Amino acid sequence: MQQTINKEITIKGVGLHSGLKSVLILKPAEVDTGITFRRSDVVGSNPVKALYSNVVDTRNCTCLGDGKGNLISTIEHLMAALSVLKIDNVAVEVSSPEMPILDGAAAKFIEAITSAGIKTQYLPRRRLKVLRKVEFKDDKGGYISIEPAKDFAIDFTIEFPSPIVGHQEFNASIDLNLFNQEIAPCRTFCEKNQIDYLQSIGLIKGGSLDNAVVLDGDKILNEGGFKVPNECVNHKVLDAIGDMYTSGYQIIGRVTALKTGHYHNNQLLKALFADTANYEII
Ligand SMILES: [Zn+2]
Repeated sequence: MQQTINKEITIKGVGLHSGLKSVLILKPAEVDTGITFRRSDVVGSNPVKALYSNVVDTRNCTCLGDGKGNLISTIEHLMAALSVLKIDNVAVEVSSPEMPILDGAAAKFIEAITSAGIKTQYLPRRRLKVLRKVEFKDDKGGYISIEPAKDFAIDFTIEFPSPIVGHQEFNASIDLNLFNQEIAPCRTFCEKNQIDYLQSIGLIKGGSLDNAVVLDGDKILNEGGFKVPNECVNHKVLDAIGDMYTSGYQIIGRVTALKTGHYHNNQLLKALFADTANYEII
C-alpha cells in the first residue's frame, strides 16, 4: 500500500551554497499526489512534483524548477531517504532556494521521518519494472545504464585522482537496513583546491567539515576520517537512489554507473521514459 508520514515534521539547517538558513517542513499528503516541493518564502509559489522532467539544473546537485523561475536545489538526499523508507506521498515546503544540507548525507532525514512515523494509506503502490536495457554515456567516459532485475540494485564505480579515494566500487541490492548502515551516513566530498575555487566565486558558504568530506592530496581533513570505508562511492550511490526516485516510482531494475553524477542520472530517466516499451508500471 502507499504510505505517507504520520505527522508534520520541521527540520532547520543551512543551505550548502548560499549559507542561508532554511526551514524544511514535511507534511502528510493524499494518495497518488507523490512527492511535491513548494517554496514557502515565495508568495503564490505552486507545489512542483519531484519528477525528472521538472529538474532544471544538475551541475552540483539536483535542482527542481517550479516553471515560474523559482528553484529548489539539493533535493536528492531527502529523496533518497523517502525512497528507501517507501514514502509515496509527502508535501515538502522549504523557505529558501536550497534544502538544508544538515549532515551532508541522509541520516538526519531518516531519523526525523522514522521518529514521526509512517502511515499506511488506502490505495496500492504502483512500481516501475524495467523491461529492457537503456543506456546513457557522455564523451568523457561517464556511463550509466538500467536493466531488468529482480529488485532495485546499484552497481557503481568511481575513479578519483585523489590517492585516498582512487578506485571504489559498490554493488548491492538496496534495502533499508543496508542503506542505514552503509549509505545514509556518507557525506558529500570534495578536494580542498575545489573548495578554494568554489568559495572564490561565492559558493559553499554553508559548507563545513560537519557536512562534507574534504580531501587534500593523500589526507582527509575531517577529524575521525571516513565514516564508512568506501564513503565516497557510497555517497554517489545515495545520490543515485535519490535521483532515481524522481522517476516517481520505486524501481525494479539494476543501475550500473561508472564516473557519473546527477546529470547522467537525469539523462538516464529521460531515455527510460522516452519509449514505453522500456518499462511497465505494475
Ligand atoms: Zn549528494
